[in-house]
Amino acid sequence: MLVAVGMVRGVAAAEGGPTPEEYVRQVGGDAKIVPAGMLAIDGHNVVCGTRPTVLDNKLDDYGAAFPGFLILNPKLLARIKSLPVKLWIHAHECGHQFRGPDEETADCFAVQRGRRQGWLTPEGLEDVCIFMAPAKADNVHFTGTQRCEAMKACYADRSIR
Ligand SMILES: [Zn+2]
Repeated sequence: MLVAVGMVRGVAAAEGGPTPEEYVRQVGGDAKIVPAGMLAIDGHNVVCGTRPTVLDNKLDDYGAAFPGFLILNPKLLARIKSLPVKLWIHAHECGHQFRGPDEETADCFAVQRGRRQGWLTPEGLEDVCIFMAPAKADNVHFTGTQRCEAMKACYADRSIR
């Protein structure tokens, strides 16, 4: 979860949640499953271990994570100009797959992965900070500004968190 709305999803995630097939059936419309290894964002191949991604234009956020799969909203992602921001969103949701529900940990996972894989430069991280800036705090997220500060510290930290 990136911005705010994920409280109910967070609970569902803790309790197991649906399979990708069940999710697609529930949301209907043009939602579809992209198998692991087959997803590209602006021509850039993105992988999250063996996890598939559900593309759902009706998701109420840019991305979300359920145990075992990621969800991205292509319609919202298309409004973002910066490729590093789009890749960071995918990596953040992937972080939930490997590190659990904590938002700050998922942010840190994403920026360290981006640094290691070479797609996140300090300039790209600034784009992420600009993207996050309007986000308000809620039960599970700090403000966008606080998240940016934490991500910068994490980006600079050579030990993997
Ligand atoms: Zn999240």
